Amino acid sequence: MTEELFREDARLAECPAVVTALDDSGIQLDRTVFYPLGGGQAGDAGWLVLADGREIAIADTRKGALPGAIVHVPAPGADLSGLAAGVAVTARIDAARRQRHMRFHTATHLLCALVPHPVDGCSITAGYARLDFHMAEPLDKAALTDGIARLVAEAHPVRHRWISEDELDANPGLVRSMSVQPPRGLGRVRVLEIEGVDLQPCGGTHVANTADIGAVVVTKIEKKSAQTRRVVLGFAAPSP
Ligand SMILES: [Zn+2]
Repeated sequence: MTEELFREDARLAECPAVVTALDDSGIQLDRTVFYPLGGGQAGDAGWLVLADGREIAIADTRKGALPGAIVHVPAPGADLSGLAAGVAVTARIDAARRQRHMRFHTATHLLCALVPHPVDGCSITAGYARLDFHMAEPLDKAALTDGIARLVAEAHPVRHRWISEDELDANPGLVRSMSVQPPRGLGRVRVLEIEGVDLQPCGGTHVANTADIGAVVVTKIEKKSAQTRRVVLGFAAPSP
């Protein structure tokens, strides 16, 4: 099990950690700020910094074979000498890249609020995000871009909390307001709330306020099938 610091504080860019395992798949730590690919969100890249200051580049982060395991995948050709179980490192993510993931990820929640249809696919990268909605009706690119801009300008607070399944069951209104049904059987569910806008189970990383999303626009709407509309998001070009 790796302690998942990013679940409680997505703003953490680095942490001290100890190597617990090292094999062909990558490096495992006792705790980490690196988010592993999942829920549509790309895995983090960054560096593991040794006590002597040497930096080992990490190209990607994945979930390991065992439940709760997180594998830091070294960049091709990275020199892993000096790394072994028990060695102390500083785990440091590429914070600029992660910030783009968090801005896009939070924007996808705004899209869910604007498009009241089930989501059947999602991908969030540093360059774009896309959401597939199960629906047959057409979507309007300009209207969605305007809707996102309005919710960004309204500066809604974004927060997560853990709720028990009992709490869920005792509050049918909470479940009804969710756009995605939570997974059952784990005892507790992490929910992401954008105050007054969206509430749904989510394990990803998000900005703390919709204002931090900045200028995100709908770059493309595609009809992927008779029952699927794909919405692609990009960052607006900075004004000259
Ligand atoms: Zn989310």
